[in-house]
Amino acid sequence: MNKDADTVKKVFTCIVCPRGCEVTATLDKGGDILSIEGNFCPRGETYVRNELTHPMRQLTTTVKIDGGIYSRLPVILSGEIPKERMMDVMEAVSDVKVTSPIKRGDVIVADVCGLNVDVIASRSM
Ligand code: SF4
Repeated sequence: MNKDADTVKKVFTCIVCPRGCEVTATLDKGGDILSIEGNFCPRGETYVRNELTHPMRQLTTTVKIDGGIYSRLPVILSGEIPKERMMDVMEAVSDVKVTSPIKRGDVIVADVCGLNVDVIASRSM
């Protein structure tokens, strides 16, 4: 019996640090993880396990601002969100408009999309 035919390999580039290890996960037909190889440190294994089960992402974008030195204010989330909700959050902030002055860290949208994270200003303006 060919054991490789019963497994699937998935290759990831770990983005946790600049080293960028290429990490290979071997899964059985049911999707259970058999092995994870190529990570230089344990954080790479955690990253790949999360990618396979529940990928999370940080999001940075901008919102409109009146009275600032620029027309857009950079914002960031207070924590990571499920990857599949990124477009929901982008849509939720697309019509947001704030007025200067804004301080770095000010909450622009609280509990965006009910995800238990806030959209916050990443600079003062
Ligand atoms: S596995 Fe460790 S060393 Fe390699 S990129 Fe990820 S965090 Fe960096």
